[in-house]
Amino acid sequence: MALPLPLSPCAKRDGINNCDHFEYASSMATTLLAPVKTEQDILKHSMYEDDPNENTQLPSEVGSEPRWGPRHRGAQELAELYSPGKRLQEWVCVLLCCTLCLMAGLLMMKYIRPDASLLLAALAGVLTADFASGLVHWAADTWGAVDLPLIGKNFLRPFREHHIDPTSITRHDFIETNGDNFAITIPVLAKIVWQLLTYNVEAIHEQFHWISYWYLCCIFVAMTNQIHKWSHTYFGLPAWVIWLQEWHIVLPRRHHRIHHVAPHETYFCITTGWLNWPLEKLHFWSTLEAIIEVLTGCKPRADDMKWAQKRS
Ligand SMILES: [Zn+2]
Ligand SMILES: [Zn+2]
Repeated sequence: MALPLPLSPCAKRDGINNCDHFEYASSMATTLLAPVKTEQDILKHSMYEDDPNENTQLPSEVGSEPRWGPRHRGAQELAELYSPGKRLQEWVCVLLCCTLCLMAGLLMMKYIRPDASLLLAALAGVLTADFASGLVHWAADTWGAVDLPLIGKNFLRPFREHHIDPTSITRHDFIETNGDNFAITIPVLAKIVWQLLTYNVEAIHEQFHWISYWYLCCIFVAMTNQIHKWSHTYFGLPAWVIWLQEWHIVLPRRHHRIHHVAPHETYFCITTGWLNWPLEKLHFWSTLEAIIEVLTGCKPRADDMKWAQKRS
């Protein structure tokens, strides 16, 4: 079985047919070691986000209608559905979440003790956030439609837009990028603040591992779309963000490209991305989709495909 070697980020797209010399035969290769998407999959079936001048268009695509990007008809229609009401909801959620997060952090400070179990609780919180990001992202990408009442325009629309214009997220400001994720954490942060304000000291000490777990989980859930935005930003990122990406503390750019290979059926976790590989090897998402399809008759990603094919 032949395995492609990892190529550099901008491995020459115009030399795509000559990629064979990057491959090597390995009798030791197993399915486990096979890459989830090859370099050729990535180059052929995702947008070239690291090339704003589109100099790397494959010869077969030059002159045809855009498959991705801001000039795609579906992307333009979806962008126009962003409403002032939605904007207001995002503003309120960002302000509320920041206030609660700051209050909880300040109230927690006097209870923090350096110990391994606290570190483990915090780490479990980050892993939970990564899994939650995958679950919500998978559900929104795979099921439902933009014309559904309430959730369609407000919550599913950005997921559809993101697949056909992945770089649009880099043009969204802080409020539009983070409003929805900040909203999810509000009830949990409110509960943490209420516990810290009303419980006695012994009860807080007893509950402190859980409080730390949920607090870290909320911070990473809230930060998920900002981290996701960084993973699509190929120019002008601060050095410390690049450092976090290179050490895979947050979602790295090359790692997230795997999700953006059409038809967008894997690597849904977008906080740290730590769970993407194990979930893929366990066939977690495809099994879940098969069960839901049998039970409901709904086809996964039908609405996503409809928007991707819009040309006029
Ligand atoms: Zn997606
Ligand atoms: Zn993305």
